[in-house]
Amino acid sequence: MKPTEKERQMIRAAAEKTAQKMVQPRAAKIDATGEFPWDLVEAFGKQGYLSLLLPESYGGTDGDLTSFCIVVEEIAKVCGSSSLIILAHGLGTLPVLLGGNLSQKDLCFTEISEKNSLLAFALKEPEEGLGVSSIKTTAEKKGRDYLIDGRKSFITHGSLAKFYSVFALTQPEHGAERISVFLVEDGTPGLLFGKKEEKVGMRGSVTTDVIFESCRVSQENRLGSEGEGWKIAANTLNMSRPAIGAQAVGIAQGALDFAIHYANERIQFGKPVSSFQAIQFMIADMATRVEAARSLVYKAASQIDEKNENVGKLPAISKYFASQTAMKVTTDAVQILGGYGYMKDYPVERMMRDATVTQVYEEAEQIQRWVVAQELLKGC
Ligand SMILES: Cc1cc2nc3c(=O)[nH]c(=O)nc-3n(C[C@H](O)[C@H](O)[C@H](O)COP(=O)(O)OP(=O)(O)OC[C@H]3O[C@@H](n4cnc5c(N)ncnc54)[C@H](O)[C@@H]3O)c2cc1C
Repeated sequence: MKPTEKERQMIRAAAEKTAQKMVQPRAAKIDATGEFPWDLVEAFGKQGYLSLLLPESYGGTDGDLTSFCIVVEEIAKVCGSSSLIILAHGLGTLPVLLGGNLSQKDLCFTEISEKNSLLAFALKEPEEGLGVSSIKTTAEKKGRDYLIDGRKSFITHGSLAKFYSVFALTQPEHGAERISVFLVEDGTPGLLFGKKEEKVGMRGSVTTDVIFESCRVSQENRLGSEGEGWKIAANTLNMSRPAIGAQAVGIAQGALDFAIHYANERIQFGKPVSSFQAIQFMIADMATRVEAARSLVYKAASQIDEKNENVGKLPAISKYFASQTAMKVTTDAVQILGGYGYMKDYPVERMMRDATVTQVYEEAEQIQRWVVAQELLKGC
């Protein structure tokens, strides 16, 4: 059963506590060293944050996207990289939830709930973004097996995950129905990884290419039927859009909170800078954007939770608006801190760097707008 409103409030209070006590003190160092925080993976596992989307029997909330967004938002307020652990792992579990059979689910969900194993979502390829036509990776049927060949790029948790949901062509001649999705376990011969990417932000998150060289998997590893991969990918992306929006809202709220604190402390012309109307208006604008973005994100998440028919445009609107908000609000927070905002001694420059990617990953901002326009222009 999905959590009640009261239970969701308790989930938020617990996540806020975890963020403040365990994550916030580590955030600057994670960013500076770029080291993946395995200790936080353990801690998130213990808190149940790696199992959030799973069925209740595995310690989850039965796929309650609202609870997932709440936890991502609270962790993102203090550390973007740490929130991305939960977010990218959740993205990796969605194809299993949406397309897996009972034994595939049991295999993955037991790994997650008992061993805190991470999952990854491997869709993007080097040549194009996330469109159907972008997939060149092939999965050739060989008896009861498939041989996977190709390369996925910019995969979060590349080289760290226990299982990868890999999208590949099984029938080169049929449009979207030519794509299938496979669960590939770490250690499978022919599964290789590229270098760890050096990123502007989210520096504690590991991003690598995932390479397949005659990587043999059994047909038991296929999630759903042959040709169902694109449907699973599209539903996964639709569900994860509000979650990225929640991450963006968290980053923006963290920057706003710090800017307010700083503006009250910083004295110029004998007064705190917060007493200047120009700064007050900036703070008001930032707060307005954050509240609007939060409303959109949770409205989209609740539409998905209620399985409302018309979920097409709102998830894309929420991601588009929230990620734009994160960029604008974090940049304004740097401005409010003046020269100190540009220094690594304060967290707002990190938040600004972390915010950038929310406008890019899982389909860039321009694609979200395209999705919205397509929905609105349907039948015109
Ligand atoms: C840190 C990080 C982590 C990631 N993690 C994952 C992951 O775990 N799994 C995964 O599968 N992928 C992952 N990605 C990939 C990510 O989803 C893609 O980078 C993203 O979808 C954009 O694709 P692209 O990089 O090919 O950009 P492109 O598609 O080349 O886009 C370049 C520019 O052109 C614009 N553009 C593209 N097509 C159109 C169009 N039709 N109309 C108008 N404008 C257009 C884009 O908006 C963008 O501004 C990650 C990326 C990053 C940076």
